[in-house]
Amino acid sequence: MASVRPRWRHARIVVPLVFVLTVLPTAGLAWATWQLLTQDRGLVSRQRQDQMNRLNSASWLVVSDLRTILSESRRDLAAGKAWPAGAISITIDREGLTVTPPDRVAFLPVPVPLLAAPDDARRGAALLSRGQDLADSGRADEALRVFSEMRSLRPYSIEGTPSWLAARYKRGQILERTGRERELREEAVSLAADMRMMATHLNEVIYRTYAEDASRWMSSRSPQDAVSLSQAVGLLWQGWSSQRYGIEMTGHEVVWEDGDWKAVALLETTRDTLRAVVVTREFVDATWMPQLRSIARQYRATVVLGLPEAGNVPRSGQEAKDLPWPVVLYDASGSVQASGQRPLIVIGSFLTLIVVVAVAATWSIGRELAVARQQSNFVAAVSHEFRTPLTSLKHFVELLREQPSIEDARRRECYDAQARAVDRLSRLVESLLDFGRLEAGTQHHTFAALDCVALAQWVVDVFGLHAANAGYRIALSTSGSAIVNVDAEAFSRALWNLLDNAMKYSPPMSTIDVVVRAAHGNVCVDVVDRGIGVSPGESRDIFRRFHRGADARSRGIRGTGLGLAMVTEIMQAHGGRVDLESQPGQGSTFTLVFPAAA
Ligand code: ADP
Repeated sequence: MASVRPRWRHARIVVPLVFVLTVLPTAGLAWATWQLLTQDRGLVSRQRQDQMNRLNSASWLVVSDLRTILSESRRDLAAGKAWPAGAISITIDREGLTVTPPDRVAFLPVPVPLLAAPDDARRGAALLSRGQDLADSGRADEALRVFSEMRSLRPYSIEGTPSWLAARYKRGQILERTGRERELREEAVSLAADMRMMATHLNEVIYRTYAEDASRWMSSRSPQDAVSLSQAVGLLWQGWSSQRYGIEMTGHEVVWEDGDWKAVALLETTRDTLRAVVVTREFVDATWMPQLRSIARQYRATVVLGLPEAGNVPRSGQEAKDLPWPVVLYDASGSVQASGQRPLIVIGSFLTLIVVVAVAATWSIGRELAVARQQSNFVAAVSHEFRTPLTSLKHFVELLREQPSIEDARRRECYDAQARAVDRLSRLVESLLDFGRLEAGTQHHTFAALDCVALAQWVVDVFGLHAANAGYRIALSTSGSAIVNVDAEAFSRALWNLLDNAMKYSPPMSTIDVVVRAAHGNVCVDVVDRGIGVSPGESRDIFRRFHRGADARSRGIRGTGLGLAMVTEIMQAHGGRVDLESQPGQGSTFTLVFPAAA
């Protein structure tokens, strides 16, 4: 019992231990997490501040650069500079509207009228109506020829539409109706070319009608930049006609479409003249933006001219009257968002640690409680083990005292019963002392190369007498001698324990076999019974100290749960092991496996 006490002491320190293992680290971690989060919040806000400062500086530089670009463009305008593709200059004065170069627009707000010689107009009208009649009466080829002829005349205006375009359009309609796809595509390409050539003679409505069909026939979109430039010219014309601009002013007009800008006009007016340069978005992208982008890049930012994007992207923006659009700078480093995730990582790790500590603590408490429960079962079992032989002893002692004239045969039975009880008590005390020695590590073995068969024979003979009284038969079978390095006493104790169990857990009048055999270089001693067996779920646990099988307990079979633990320790001391094969309800075979002596 001396070895059991430290375990109880251990159980008593479980509560402070759990406190030290869980509450203190948890509190420490909580404090550290709080500190980290506070630091992190400070860090993030400092980074945000730095980021905004950086974006603001970039924005200031980009805007001042943009102002320089715009004023240089105005200077170029005043100097009458020729503009590259994507840009036009326009003048509106008493003479009307002048666009330079004119072939870059798609239409004009005030198209230049096409005047024709009266002869051409008359012939043209005749050709138009003949062609129409032929087309209506299904003579497509002839109608196509007549409309082609119209192009040989000088162009003139038919209710605002240049005659050449009207003729091509009619041809296109006939080709579409008659399903001549290849010719239709060619006609559409020519129509588009004529429209570009005659752009200054088109207004927006006519342009859009023809452009829509021409794109459909060609299966391609009409050129957007020319349309955007024309729209800007339209805006300027409207502003000028409605006297929206001051007498002398510098300003701008922007063509917006679906929240995006398409073109911008930088204008300057005097009392009777408006001059402007109009540039498309593509032009700005290719000519002005590279310079602005490179400034923004130095500040790890991207620059966008136009309305800011929706969403929570860090940015800095500037809007000024002299700028056609807002200038927005977005952060391109993303560093603040990354550090913004740190609190999540810290909290995640903290929670993981708490879970790990809690699981470890739960496991350790569970283990301690299980050991405590087993120890208390052990104390109950040992008390019971003592009580049974003591009760028997008391009974027979009293019988002999109270009936001194008892007949001899009966007296002998009483002495035998007392001897059995004393025997059982001394075995019990012996086994508890053995267990105490094993636990304390004071059990010493003396190994010698001995014949296992002889040792087993001796144990079987001695145990056999005891078993026979209880109605069991022990049968030993061997094949020759089997020499192992063994402590004879420990061997006997291990085999005795297995035999004692085999008897306890088998029905009376059954046979228990002991087999000594050599296998795979080992010497095996099998103890085979035909008893209650061990369930697979308990086949490992029964080798742990204090563990008693559920079946053993429910059947009220006496025991302390120490036998197999002792056998295991003995076998480990011999460099061997204990094996078990069992079928519940059929019986068990416990095997002592010794390494054969070299
Ligand atoms: P005890 O027999 O005192 O309970 P042991 O350590 O010797 O303790 O055995 C542990 C448990 O193993 C037993 O309670 C019993 O459930 C099971 N056991 C041991 N030997 C046998 C056997 N031969 N047949 C069936 N069950 C056994």
